[in-house]
Amino acid sequence: MMGKISNISLFCIGVVALAGSAVAGDIEDKLADKALSAYGGDKLLNLKAVKLRTKYKRLTNDQGYIVGEFDIDHYDNSVIIDFENSRKEFRVEIGLRDDPYIQHHIFDGENAHRIYAASKQIDRNNGRTFTSLDWRTPTRFDPFLARLLYENKEQAKHEGNGVIAGKPVEKISFRAEGHPEYTLFIDPETGLIHKMTRPHWIPGSVFAYNFIEHTHEAGIPFASQLYVTKGGVPENLSILRTADFDYDLKGAFQIPEGYADLPQGIDVSEMVVERLADGIYHAGKGWEFSLFIDAGDHYIALGGYGGLKDRFEAVQKAAGNEKPLKILAVSHHHSDHIGGTGDAFDLGATIVTTQKNYDAIRRVSAKDIPDESFIAAGASGEIAGGLVKYIDFPNGHAEHHLMFYVPSLKMMLTGDFFFSRQVEGSPKGSETLVRFKEAIEKAGFDAELFAAEHSSRVLTLADLDAAIADMAPKQVCPASWEICQD
Ligand SMILES: [Zn+2]
Repeated sequence: MMGKISNISLFCIGVVALAGSAVAGDIEDKLADKALSAYGGDKLLNLKAVKLRTKYKRLTNDQGYIVGEFDIDHYDNSVIIDFENSRKEFRVEIGLRDDPYIQHHIFDGENAHRIYAASKQIDRNNGRTFTSLDWRTPTRFDPFLARLLYENKEQAKHEGNGVIAGKPVEKISFRAEGHPEYTLFIDPETGLIHKMTRPHWIPGSVFAYNFIEHTHEAGIPFASQLYVTKGGVPENLSILRTADFDYDLKGAFQIPEGYADLPQGIDVSEMVVERLADGIYHAGKGWEFSLFIDAGDHYIALGGYGGLKDRFEAVQKAAGNEKPLKILAVSHHHSDHIGGTGDAFDLGATIVTTQKNYDAIRRVSAKDIPDESFIAAGASGEIAGGLVKYIDFPNGHAEHHLMFYVPSLKMMLTGDFFFSRQVEGSPKGSETLVRFKEAIEKAGFDAELFAAEHSSRVLTLADLDAAIADMAPKQVCPASWEICQD
């Protein structure tokens, strides 16, 4: 009976929505045209070269050092775009000035290059495209959202209206190739865009980009300030924004010569299930891998990345049984590493983690997980009667970080540490790896193999020693880069 009622009401909603969209083509067209002309019209469509820069204060709450608290650091980037020849140069500086994390990418019209100046290497096969190379940075500039909407207006959908700062806005959503769905909030009188939202992978959560205090450059308006929230919580606050819509490309797109090619990357596009020993599997794809261990009449999983259910089902299929998942142990609180906890809860598993992380896991999984479905991890301990041992390894990345050891295989799962996405060669070392090796020796772990949550490759103790003997050079923000000068 209930089913029938909801079917009827769904049908009614469908009719209303259809009736709405039959006349709605007009309003989408009008909004797209209005926004385009507000942002310079043909001038915007015919831009030859631009340079965009945003310097932010970044407030990290779900990737920070302590769960539930904010870290504050710099996040500065610039992108130069040559529209005529489909070239791009993207520079990023993140972190603290005395120890920055630098990224440098060039798309030369055909191929993406990631340049590692500190180690003098180039990655020429990283799969980035003209659109994805710069993390879609132009969509953080309202004129380029107006342009993207105009180019994709046939697929746009009016989503009703709202109010921003006391003024009415019209909401319009659209899809463009290589982009997530965007919803724009447009002032119907001026055509200016005041806000853009796009979905976050956490259910029901969105990123919101608030475009504030429009200014002009070469006849094109743009927001001189940007304020970004994630799931309603502050994320980025711009402190400097510049747009040069008539940029002189001289000196751009210089790919350094004499750099070594980074060894070939591992193909992680398809799900792989590697059987490491009887009943022990390392499974995943992309940046998401877990260890699964057959504990007799059930499985336990180590590593809580999103997509856990798919990995678990792939393991069940490879093993040829349907034993349930009873335990998931996660390494640390960063949202990506607990993205699979909702799947684990749905599968009926108990979650092993540091007690401070319970609320973060409830928030990220969007599930009301009761305390009884958690097991609190201490400074060290055992899981499943000693099938797995662990130590908490506090380090600069996270206040609590569990490192798992599987004695039967002499193997560790190392969370965010010590992985390589290249087919061969050892990763470079860091002070943290030196302390990690001391910690596993102190714990009495006789580790010979190291599986990762970010790669299918299993590294060896020889790789760990090679990494420690070959420390990563410290990154320096080049003095010639504008983003390094202020
Ligand atoms: Zn992390």
